Amino acid sequence: MVSKEVRRAEILDGRSIAEQIKHEVAREVQRLRDEQSLKPCLAAVVAGDNDASAVYVQNKMRACAEVGIESAHHALPASTTTAELLALIAELNRRADVDGILVQLPLPKQIDEASIIQAVDPAKDVDGFHPANVGLLAMGRPRFVPCTPAGIIELLERNQIEIAGAGACVVGRSQIVGRPAASLLLQRHATVTICHSRTRDLPSVTRQADILVAVLGRPGFIRGDYIKPGATVIDVGVNKITDAAEARALFGAEADDRIEAIARRGYTLVGDVHPMEADLVAGRRTPVPGGVGLLTVAMLMRNTLLAAKWRRGV
Ligand code: NAP
Repeated sequence: MVSKEVRRAEILDGRSIAEQIKHEVAREVQRLRDEQSLKPCLAAVVAGDNDASAVYVQNKMRACAEVGIESAHHALPASTTTAELLALIAELNRRADVDGILVQLPLPKQIDEASIIQAVDPAKDVDGFHPANVGLLAMGRPRFVPCTPAGIIELLERNQIEIAGAGACVVGRSQIVGRPAASLLLQRHATVTICHSRTRDLPSVTRQADILVAVLGRPGFIRGDYIKPGATVIDVGVNKITDAAEARALFGAEADDRIEAIARRGYTLVGDVHPMEADLVAGRRTPVPGGVGLLTVAMLMRNTLLAAKWRRGV
């Protein structure tokens, strides 16, 4: 008889929590409309013709419509200069009806990304990337928190996963996810380790963590032996794979849908954690897709609502 391996990790569903958060935002947006005639508005700026950026912005615009937030989409050509984009940002900063400004990254390579991020009014910086907001977060006094790390915390807290006192390890130190995620975990009293490409003997470090956040951008990199038995594993990675054999190696008997997706559209999206191996070791893990990514958009809606309230002193 062939022995059947038993799945162990509980799957932390991002969809239901994202829906819950959007529902809360929608209720508050409606209240602001009814009681204060206030209509929160998000301006999204995309430059160039990056397919992934177009899809991300589309999803964000759709979420705005769902929760009753007004939105304006500014699509600029790939040839846009830093000066042209700075001029648009200055206009959006001035406009009283715009509460949040989102500049979809990456920008075309001739544009100076840092100067664009710095030009956004920190009071409208719903992505939380402006140095003033990064500094406040680092000081433990967050104003706008980057959406993906904020979503990770919501996912942990709404699943009653204890952060205070836990050993947390974040693999990846990017400005947009790794570092702010580590700051937020520290602020909630986890003992935090940040790992990166120069970390020696990575599995021996990650194996200490009760909460392991993987944000490397490498498909299935975090294997079973990187995970402490029973740990909560948050998989932030979003990677395209195009090879059916790779999908089979990651998903085993559950790879059929993935392989069908590769045949149909050329790729399937996978995380940074090896799902089949993680299932045998972790206590809980987030899926890709259907995990952290959905929360990112929900948290953007919440940041836009907060921007509208703070700017208007409501
Ligand atoms: P990034 O800026 O490329 O940063 C990757 C980090 O991983 C770096 O700090 C790098 O270390 C570290 N790293 C790379 N290879 C490593 C290795 N072999 N061992 C240990 N550390 C390693 O990426 P990012 O923007 O943070 O994104 C990471 C992933 O998250 C991507 O798949 C991205 O698509 C996904 N993402 C998802 C969402 C969402 O909403 N779900 C949002 C943002 C990003 P060094 O610093 O030493 O180079």
